[in-house]
Amino acid sequence: MKQLNERPSAVSTEANATIIYNLPFIDLLFRAQQIHRETFDPNTVQMSRLLSIKTGGCAEDCGYCSQSSHYPTGLKASKLMEVERVLAEARQARDGGATRYCMGAAWRSPKDRDMDTLVAMVEGVRALGMETCMTLGMLTPEHSQRLAAAGLDYYNHNIDSSERFYPEIITTRAFEDRLETLSNVRSAGIKVCAGGILGMGETVADRISMLVTLANLPEQPESVPINMLIPIPGSKLANAAAVDPIDFVRTIALARILMPKAHVRLSAGSTDMSDEMQALCFFAGANSIFVGETLLTADNPAEDKDAMLFRRLGLQPMASEYRS
Ligand code: SF4
Repeated sequence: MKQLNERPSAVSTEANATIIYNLPFIDLLFRAQQIHRETFDPNTVQMSRLLSIKTGGCAEDCGYCSQSSHYPTGLKASKLMEVERVLAEARQARDGGATRYCMGAAWRSPKDRDMDTLVAMVEGVRALGMETCMTLGMLTPEHSQRLAAAGLDYYNHNIDSSERFYPEIITTRAFEDRLETLSNVRSAGIKVCAGGILGMGETVADRISMLVTLANLPEQPESVPINMLIPIPGSKLANAAAVDPIDFVRTIALARILMPKAHVRLSAGSTDMSDEMQALCFFAGANSIFVGETLLTADNPAEDKDAMLFRRLGLQPMASEYRS
């Protein structure tokens, strides 16, 4: 039992993370749940809504993405949305119970000419009493500071996988570039949302390595989205094999144990999860989900399905930091 009671060390190593990952499943989940309860109410789940503010036509070649212009995925590209439309959608999401609003643009990085619009979106969503999050690709220190000054709470920038596996999925930028943006965002005082994707052909060791990288950032991310790949027809990973659900739950538990204070989010891929698998993920320490009909361009379970599962499990939505 000794291993069960040991706390993760300040610096997690891949060796000790692997030992934790390979604990008997019940011991792993028990440990994750114990740690989860030290920080969080185990019966509340944070709900985020994601809106694609600029879809498709992206210059990057991320092998999992429907929005890359490198693959014939059939997705129609659109321009950056108008601020008023974004705010109307955000208001609706707030009235539906979402407390965080995430705005995503399919860009390598934003251009200077887009910054005024982005700033207006952040200010407008914040004024609705919601937490704000953006994902816009790579950010310079200057762009990070402008968004921080507008009131951006979170910036999402996933490291996707391990450093070793990264070049097999993306060649238009390097793992180091991701870490640099995370550092720029953090230095500007924005909270960090960073996670990855399972099911791209990576090994379990790659998944562990990814979590160890996140856990060892100078400051751990406040949010850690764990996506299950949705194979996109036409993309490089169109025929990727499905992730073993038990391995997925183990990865959630390890994320919870290595990053006790982070919101661990079930992101893309929840459409393909059974209710039972989602319930196991919540027990393993996941405490955030995306709600809404579309998750950028992939299907997300319809909202009433989420509400039904919440009812069956006795889960409550987590309140926003900005609303009573
Ligand atoms: S994941 Fe983001 S950066 Fe990569 S192709 Fe898709 S939209 Fe572009």
